[in-house]
Amino acid sequence: MTPESRRLDGNAAAGQLADVFVFDATVVMTRCSTCGTEAPLGQYHVYADAPGMIVRCPSCEKVVMRVAQTPGHKWLDMGGAATLDIGN
Ligand SMILES: [Zn+2]
Repeated sequence: MTPESRRLDGNAAAGQLADVFVFDATVVMTRCSTCGTEAPLGQYHVYADAPGMIVRCPSCEKVVMRVAQTPGHKWLDMGGAATLDIGN
């Protein structure tokens, strides 16, 4: 199985991110902290078949976001996202 065969588009992240954000995260302009690519989160690459959900940059494939669920906790790591433009 290749990484590309497991990959979903960023819209696949909508369900899990709806538990975290009060807005539709898939339309939020997101800047990768590694390469500076800016695109709506819905255009990023999502891997949902890991123990958690991994969101990777569509240009450099670095991890920009991870979401994991453990008993009683939901973890969000946005260490690879430089900024999110959430509008006003
Ligand atoms: Zn990147």
